[in-house]
Amino acid sequence: MKPESHLFYQTRSRRPVLAEARGVYMWDVDGKRYLDGSSGAMVSNIGHSNPRVIDAMRRQMEKSTFGYRLHFETEPSEKLAAKVASLSPSGMEKVFFVSGGSEAVESAIKLARQYAVTVGQGSRWKVISRDPSYHGSTLGALALTGYAPLSDPFMPMMQAMPKIPAPRAYLDGLDINDPATGQHYAEMLEAKILEEGADSVLAFIVEPIGGASTGALVPPAGYMRAVREICDRYGVLLIHDEVMSGGGRTGRFMGAEHFGVEPDIIAISKGFGAGYAPLGAMIAHDRLVDPVLDAGGFLHGHTYAGNPLACAAGLAVIEEIESGGLMQNASRMGGVLKSRLQNLMQRFSFIGDVRGEGLLLAFELVSDRQSMQPLPRALNAYNELVELAYAEGLIIYSRRTRGGLEGDHFLVCPPMIISEAQVDEIIEMLTNALTKFAVKAGL
Ligand code: PLP
Repeated sequence: MKPESHLFYQTRSRRPVLAEARGVYMWDVDGKRYLDGSSGAMVSNIGHSNPRVIDAMRRQMEKSTFGYRLHFETEPSEKLAAKVASLSPSGMEKVFFVSGGSEAVESAIKLARQYAVTVGQGSRWKVISRDPSYHGSTLGALALTGYAPLSDPFMPMMQAMPKIPAPRAYLDGLDINDPATGQHYAEMLEAKILEEGADSVLAFIVEPIGGASTGALVPPAGYMRAVREICDRYGVLLIHDEVMSGGGRTGRFMGAEHFGVEPDIIAISKGFGAGYAPLGAMIAHDRLVDPVLDAGGFLHGHTYAGNPLACAAGLAVIEEIESGGLMQNASRMGGVLKSRLQNLMQRFSFIGDVRGEGLLLAFELVSDRQSMQPLPRALNAYNELVELAYAEGLIIYSRRTRGGLEGDHFLVCPPMIISEAQVDEIIEMLTNALTKFAVKAGL
């Protein structure tokens, strides 16, 4: 029996109580073992209970756990800021710490706006984003999130922001490797800027490699470069939301490194604190930050910003990623896992697509691979398959969203420390879950 609780989250559903977690595995209080095939919510990038990260945190705890920014600088926050700047595109030397992804996105759009006001471009305030997309749950970030069911009830409390379609070439029957496809979707941004009036557009925010909203959507060839060019043409700032794609999971520290494109502002979180501490950051180009600081200061901040314990954890996480070659492992094991997921398409005709980069991977279920029509809503696939996998001892992450269309996709994103034998375990448990789902759904 699950205990009574005063806690509440999004729904009434309850899960077993977690007893302990180590590496890629987690155990509940009844002793059942789970393989964390989604790193929580694409967070636990270096696996659970890493002894060196815990030790770094313990050492910091013995020194200090809080130093308010108006009273002290702290060594871990200085060191982590320098490290993050060294891993960011050149010129992006300014790091602003926060405690999560939504806060990082809020910080990004507020810095962009304050910069515009400071340099006499106060007419610019609209932030264009994509549909579907997820940029967070606070009202500012939610206004950018392209998923109406999440934002609709709150619209009277927010400023509606313009949206363009995400480049879902696999649904539109276009070749992702053809640069014309990338150009086609990027031109939607240009059209939207012109429709809104370029002088009113502040920024475009994009997940370089999609997260939960699109199911690890990789942009078509040339898309990110064309987007950068269009932003430059119209004086629009480019914000990369790397909350999920940043931190090494795709095989590079920033997802955008795969496309050779540099933004003006980056938001990161999730794998940055890797589940050891609530941590995020907004990384910005000096040329944006300096005028704002010179003009009196950035009108934004949170009490826990730059918390030394969180920053000590963040530093130790990056050290683990670098010393353990974990980005290389994410590339290698990502390749193995992706090809094994693709093999499952031969066995299960209702897997319509497998996509992603490194260990940011997803597959999508469809009624028919030719038309890519989604499964009937009544099958509740996004929930059912997750539950069947959970019963097997495999944790995966799902969403039923595809923008205008409804669809079920599943993220398979284990920690970057995963071995090939553990990839095989994932595939075995997933195969069992898919088989049971097919029987239950009559597919
Ligand atoms: N941006 C992206 C791309 C995300 O995936 C998320 C969370 O899933 C967020 C922002 C919001 O992050 P948080 O839930 O930490 O506020």
